[in-house]
Amino acid sequence: MRAEPGGVSARAVFAHPITPPEALYIHTPFCAHKCHYCDFYSFVDTRDQQPAFVERLARELRALAEHTRAGVSLGGGPRAGGRVPLGSVFVGGGTPSLLAPRLWERLLVAIHEHFDLTAPGGVPAEFTVECNPESATPELLRLLRGGGVNRVSMGAQSFHAAHLRTLERIHTPGRVGRAVADARAAGIERVSIDLIYAVPGQSPQDWRADLERALSLSLDHLSCYNLTYEPNTAMTVRLARGEFVPAPEDDELAMFDLAEELLTAAGLTRYEVSNYARGGIHGPHACRHNLAYWRQGGWLAAGPSASGHLRVRGGAAPSGVRWKNAPRLDTYLSRDDGGLAPVCDLEPPDPARALRERLMTGLRLSEGVDALAAAADAEAAAPGSAARLRHCAQELVSDGLLGVHGQRWALTRRGWPLADFVARRMMSRVGEP
Ligand code: SF4
Repeated sequence: MRAEPGGVSARAVFAHPITPPEALYIHTPFCAHKCHYCDFYSFVDTRDQQPAFVERLARELRALAEHTRAGVSLGGGPRAGGRVPLGSVFVGGGTPSLLAPRLWERLLVAIHEHFDLTAPGGVPAEFTVECNPESATPELLRLLRGGGVNRVSMGAQSFHAAHLRTLERIHTPGRVGRAVADARAAGIERVSIDLIYAVPGQSPQDWRADLERALSLSLDHLSCYNLTYEPNTAMTVRLARGEFVPAPEDDELAMFDLAEELLTAAGLTRYEVSNYARGGIHGPHACRHNLAYWRQGGWLAAGPSASGHLRVRGGAAPSGVRWKNAPRLDTYLSRDDGGLAPVCDLEPPDPARALRERLMTGLRLSEGVDALAAAADAEAAAPGSAARLRHCAQELVSDGLLGVHGQRWALTRRGWPLADFVARRMMSRVGEP
């Protein structure tokens, strides 16, 4: 359901009997500069709205915790008081490292006041903050560590000044290594960096140099994203104006393969189409928070434009309720339903959507998808379609794009770059009469 921003609040989410969430995502919308390829909700704060935002966020976190406890007891779970236990927190944006330290202190207090980040058995929750190299100062990193942050995801994107300029990133290549070293010196054990390939003008040799430079930082996790031209970004407008030519498709594929070759040789394993970790998907370095997304787990969402998903008990096939907070800071600040945020999208449990999400995100993982669960989703979405789904999987196996591993379907090496195509093809068969 698409709602008027502010017309519906996240209260409607918690009318469902939910299972306990695993994770919490918090969106901070402020950036120092708008990068030309970016379509996340973010902007340059010229009105000093950070303090009001953090206070509003603290109210939302309190409300989310209260409503989560009520929704879980509705679902047959214990009527618990106290803090809501979580396996992971991820603060993204935007540029979370741009928040002033005193506001970070306030936010950290609010998070710990309402959520328990000590998992059963004493394993601490994974607590990630996205940082940009230019704003991740040693002082801030120490403050974050003191507040329980144990993972940083650093937006490096490239080690070539020319490509950073094309992307309109404002840091210099040398700043990345210093920020990584500062994070480690602050005691943050897990540091990941993001890189972008297929930037206009970037050659496979440039990309090789980026990967080698990243590997020289002894990272245990690395994300390599193919540059995409999202609608309404400055990059897409410049492309339409003919200001540059996009990277040739052959180069894109060569860069995809190069990442696999160099990173695998360095001991990292591709566990998702764009993500590598030492030890792979079941190792200690894979991003637990993102795995909750990719495995259709339950997560809460706070902040403007943040999206959440909670599993709902009961129903023909497991599914969840999905929502997105309204994507404007002004709306977020002015509409406050007992702390809950206004939402612009609210999608009740729906087996067809559950199957689409399982295929679109699950097939991107090295572990693939559970074939029995996918067939159950398909049958619930369209009776009689499970057989068509299995038949389509067999065709994809014959085409060399899919492999069968016990009860799971997983992409082959040839299938990795075609994950979306494979998922769409399987989905289209379910929709056939
Ligand atoms: S720093 Fe990140 S969120 Fe901000 S504009 Fe750049 S890509 Fe977007």
